[in-house]
Amino acid sequence: MIHASSPADSDAPQHVPVVVVGAGPAGLTIGNILRAASVDCLVLETETREFIEQRPRAGVIEEWAVRGLEKRGLARNLLDRAELHTSCEFRFDQERYRFHYGEMTGSHHFVYPQPLLVTDLVREYADVRGGEIRFGVRDVEVQDIDTDRPSVSYTCQETGEQRVVHCDFVAGCDGARGVTRASLPPERVRVARHDYGIGWLALLAEAPPSADCVLFGCHGNGFAGQMPRSPEVTRYYLQCPPGDDPENWPHERVWAELRQRLGAAGVPPLTEGRLIEKRVLDMHDYVVEPMVHGRLYLAGDAAHLVAPIAAKGMNLALHDAFLLGDALVDRLTDGDDSGLGGYAEACLRRVWDYQEFSQWLAEVFHGAASGDPYRAGTSIARLRRLFSSPVSAAAFAERYLGTAERY
Ligand code: FAD
Repeated sequence: MIHASSPADSDAPQHVPVVVVGAGPAGLTIGNILRAASVDCLVLETETREFIEQRPRAGVIEEWAVRGLEKRGLARNLLDRAELHTSCEFRFDQERYRFHYGEMTGSHHFVYPQPLLVTDLVREYADVRGGEIRFGVRDVEVQDIDTDRPSVSYTCQETGEQRVVHCDFVAGCDGARGVTRASLPPERVRVARHDYGIGWLALLAEAPPSADCVLFGCHGNGFAGQMPRSPEVTRYYLQCPPGDDPENWPHERVWAELRQRLGAAGVPPLTEGRLIEKRVLDMHDYVVEPMVHGRLYLAGDAAHLVAPIAAKGMNLALHDAFLLGDALVDRLTDGDDSGLGGYAEACLRRVWDYQEFSQWLAEVFHGAASGDPYRAGTSIARLRRLFSSPVSAAAFAERYLGTAERY
């Protein structure tokens, strides 16, 4: 068996039960589930291992997702090192309002940076469970998904050679900019898309967090947020025009806006630091239905994107991965098709619920700066209700934590 670090690709398999396209949280989790059941698979990834182990993105992981990783032997480092979060803080009208969802529900979030999780998942898959993976591949194409012998072709990084791998199933886990989604026949696919018409400047600061929890600032200048990532690095967001140039946001302007939008009576000053990431996200969501065609099963951002408003995307990617990994194992080891048959529907119920919550929260965050006094008034009413109505608070906590009994 070729090892992940093997430089050559000449003895790559010509047939494996499953080809996984994309080594993000979804693809690597599926690969690990398959390998734990001794099912062979090949993971194809366009970037290098170093790159995916450092790519900064998510950090907030829901408790059920961590338990799902733990059950599959994938959460050892996370459970040792992650911080637990039990509250978040809203700041509006120059006041601060702590929302203690942990006290209310007994549940919490884990904060563990995505690059650390990806590093753990690659190591477990490639170095411990002996899974095959090719980094730096190009020209990935999926063929014959309508047949029971689909294939995936790619160009090998080292040799420049084109290779074709036949398989029983393809897991399309190549994220928002991948190729697998485009292999679905357009006449069979519906893409539901929502554009918020705003941008978020996503920032990473080399500084400890300014508060020990997530901060949401709802301000007339626009939304601002703080998401702790680690004692050394903190994520901040600033609402900005869509398509804005990050160069319009020099260090001084960023910190001045953050101070203003996250300002409230009695709060300590922000802990400033060098900005090590600065990019503009055009805020949008999409859902691809169905997530399955023939032998191609999409998972994670390849199938649905949710703007990082409520920190849900990686959680959904993991949810898909647990269902798809388990379903593929049942099919390939016992011939049991039921998991694959119900896969898309089971994923999409949670996906649509999280989409709706993100849209609801987006209005809370952005209403104040919409220029529309009606929207500003209703978004403040939503916020106040969280602190005046226990029923509304409980409903918010359930959705924020993803703890509904059924979706
Ligand atoms: P990805 O992580 O995108 O992985 C896809 C992989 O496929 C990549 O490695 C890519 O290089 C590879 N690839 C692409 N094209 C090809 C191809 N043609 N062939 C082979 N490989 C290919 N989510 C949360 O739950 N909580 C958060 O706090 C949170 N914060 C976020 C903050 C930011 C700034 C952003 C941008 C996102 C955030 N998210 C968050 C969302 C989360 O990062 C994504 O939902 C998550 O990465 C999805 O995982 P995935 O495995 O589906 O896709």
